[in-house]
Amino acid sequence: MQIHIPTPLRAYAGGQAAVAVTAATVADALNALTSQHPELRRHLYTDEGKLRAFVNVYLNDEDIRYLPEKENSAVRDNDVLSIIPSIAGGAPAVAEAAEASLSPQEMARYARHLILPEVGEAGQLKLKKARVLCIGAGGLGAPLTMYLAAAGVGTLGIVDFDVVEASNLHRQIIHGTSDVGRAKLDSAEDSLRAINPHTKIVKYPARLSSENALEIFKDFDIVADGTDNFPTRYLVNDACVLAGIPNVYASIFRFEGQASVFGTEDGPCYRCLYPEPPPPGLVPSCAEGGVLGILPGLLGIIQATEVIKMILGEGEPLIGRLLLVDALAMRFRELKLRKNPECPVCGDHPTVTKLIDYTEFCGLAPADAQPPKMTNGIPQIDVKEFKRRRDAGEDIFLLDVREPYEYAIAQIGGQLLPLGELPERAGELDPNREIVVHCKSGGRSQRAAEFLRANGFKKVSNLAGGITAWSNEIDPSVPKY
Ligand SMILES: [Zn+2]
Repeated sequence: MQIHIPTPLRAYAGGQAAVAVTAATVADALNALTSQHPELRRHLYTDEGKLRAFVNVYLNDEDIRYLPEKENSAVRDNDVLSIIPSIAGGAPAVAEAAEASLSPQEMARYARHLILPEVGEAGQLKLKKARVLCIGAGGLGAPLTMYLAAAGVGTLGIVDFDVVEASNLHRQIIHGTSDVGRAKLDSAEDSLRAINPHTKIVKYPARLSSENALEIFKDFDIVADGTDNFPTRYLVNDACVLAGIPNVYASIFRFEGQASVFGTEDGPCYRCLYPEPPPPGLVPSCAEGGVLGILPGLLGIIQATEVIKMILGEGEPLIGRLLLVDALAMRFRELKLRKNPECPVCGDHPTVTKLIDYTEFCGLAPADAQPPKMTNGIPQIDVKEFKRRRDAGEDIFLLDVREPYEYAIAQIGGQLLPLGELPERAGELDPNREIVVHCKSGGRSQRAAEFLRANGFKKVSNLAGGITAWSNEIDPSVPKY
């Protein structure tokens, strides 16, 4: 049988998208897989040998948690097993349009909608009355808000606190070259006004938080989640469930995307799919792993389509279905999602009844906290301390575990040895010399340091904050990317 390997895990399976194994049950198949590729084991299983909570396994289109025999389910040769990790994304919610009407200018603008029986004047009025909140004006938020504005959604709220950077432009098409350095909200507002001056734009220049989420959400009918990090994704999910607002979700990584609709009355939520986030560092973000610029366009438009359908009350929404998009193979697959009665937020006996600290929940330190002196047994050295010791002529070997293309953009004198090649090439390093490991922001280098320590290297520390901290605190001429 075939086992589909998702992009984030392919590095641990010899780069393969699918692995063929011979097995009688799901458990056998996973065993055969991890025997062929031992590095995969710690990504799939906890130390106690249980499948990790952020890894779902599907036999054909069924989640094995819902099969009567679970991982002991029998498999046949032509079955397909899919590993679906979480990735670094109903009923019409809108009241019937009543008093609103369309001006002659709006009639002309929406003419091709008005002649569609599924939209018509009544549908266009629903769109005009609709209030949609988009979390993020980035890769997903760009096409999402542009198409929603073009379609005539009356009120678009956008939450974003970021500034446009040059590295955003290959995918965030709502921003232009001259917008670099501007607040994304202001740049997005200009683009959306140019597309449709009839749409009211409400800007929230803030980081979405447990303190402000419910207050912001209460003025909207639908939320579209375009975030790129786990704390905000869980926050959006929980806030939508608590507020009773549908959550149109998408996320992207490299060449793959996921989309679904969560938080409707009878449908599942994101936590039904992934009760817990992955530990920090195990799933790379787009900033680390990269993303094909077109991919958020594709997924953002799927989100916009779902939003419009829900407003109109037409078609079949993506409730209870997880759409998987593989842009390289150009293949769309669909998995069934079920509402989990044990779900901590939308289940029968919820334990999450108010918003929590999502940064802590995702195992991340708050942004303003001091970096820990020790993480998982690895000393953390800050850039100032490292510079002081290197300037003093101490014998420290700086190991750079980023990818060659990152090295080509910026480097601080480290020896390049990409994280993925470390297991084979660790023998090239001197186990007795003091080694400081760095990457872009400190996540990959921490894993590299843990690996080296576990393999007999005694004096290994991690450069906290990576080359980004170096650029911020020591030498601004080192480019940030
Ligand atoms: Zn749930």
